[in-house]
Amino acid sequence: MFAPWASKMISMRSSQEIVTALEEGEPGRILDALKFRGVDQQALFKAAREARDRVLGHSAILRGVVELTNLCRMSCLYCPMRRGGVAAEEHYLLSQDLIAAAIERICADPINVVSLQSGETPRVAELAIFATRVAAAKAPDRREVLLCLGKQELQVYEDLRASGADSYIMKFETSDVRLHETLRGEPLETRLSHIRALQSIGFAVGTGSIVGLPGQPLESVADDIQFGVALGTAMLSVSPFIPGERTPLRHAKMGDRDTTLNAISIMRLMSPAATIPTVSALELTGGDGQLAGLMAGANVVTVNYTPSREAGLYHIYRENRFRVPLDHALRVIDLANLSCTEDHMSLPSANRGAIKAHQPEQRTIVEM
Ligand code: SAM
Ligand code: SF4
Repeated sequence: MFAPWASKMISMRSSQEIVTALEEGEPGRILDALKFRGVDQQALFKAAREARDRVLGHSAILRGVVELTNLCRMSCLYCPMRRGGVAAEEHYLLSQDLIAAAIERICADPINVVSLQSGETPRVAELAIFATRVAAAKAPDRREVLLCLGKQELQVYEDLRASGADSYIMKFETSDVRLHETLRGEPLETRLSHIRALQSIGFAVGTGSIVGLPGQPLESVADDIQFGVALGTAMLSVSPFIPGERTPLRHAKMGDRDTTLNAISIMRLMSPAATIPTVSALELTGGDGQLAGLMAGANVVTVNYTPSREAGLYHIYRENRFRVPLDHALRVIDLANLSCTEDHMSLPSANRGAIKAHQPEQRTIVEM
């Protein structure tokens, strides 16, 4: 019979083998690593932290987000901000004054990146261009301007880029063609065509997926990681599925915290220079979720600067979400033994600007 230390050693050897395979870009081991718990999981986290620190230094990036509007034309089944999910009297579009004041507060704090987020609506375009100009005008203390506004017209992307926006997050959410269409009401290819358009315009792009969506087996989570890494974007993210109160999926199970943390580590090992956030949704999965994300290899925390009335109406994940204040972000960064970078362009230089130089043939956008 094996002594307990012997089985622990065998386990460590096999987890080390899997970590090495992931570092070599071997997608066949993603599924094994997603299942890691206990000593294997700790070995995975440690390897991911080491990869991050080797490539990016012991540093973390702070983003400051302003949520421009909770209007959305889409009906993603998982999202409380879906069309019809927010009562008409609760809809808001921030005024220019409120936006300028929020950006002013971001720039007064030790924040590296100004992030502008919203539901998907053409009505946000003008406001986003205004906000981008305000943020980009903060020379010489120029911060990266990061957008996450859903699908917009090609001309709007170009105007935003010309106004000084550097980067854009558009998650593919799930790479399972059928699940994507069921949950989001549009083909996966539509979202992908916009990701390619953003890349071809010269945005540094972020993408990613949700873990634990109803109807999503673990194999599909593994496929999503492989798919996201293969897209070669500068930023990758993964968040646990949160069953929001007023959504059709309110009775579904929350995405698994350990699987989400493992996904962060796997992405880090397969794409060591990527910018990977520890999302606020992790706090909803149990205590110190964002700290756990940093300990699994993430390197970004986003602080919320939306004015408080409107922040209460921006129902991302669920109505009573965790709104990250600056002191919380600084605390988890400190506890993870990281320091805040002073670089206001958070992306590694290789990832700034155009990821793939102009590829006109990829600029076709599927109908919106
Ligand atoms: N409307 C834009 C879009 O969809 O790209 C940006 C805002 S949207 C609220 C930002 C992200 O929230 C989405 O990409 C999605 O991954 C995430 N999200 C929304 N509801 C979620 C939920 N219930 N659980 C986990 N992630 C969720
Ligand atoms: Fe709209 Fe984005 Fe929510 Fe989908 S995830 S409903 S596009 S806000």
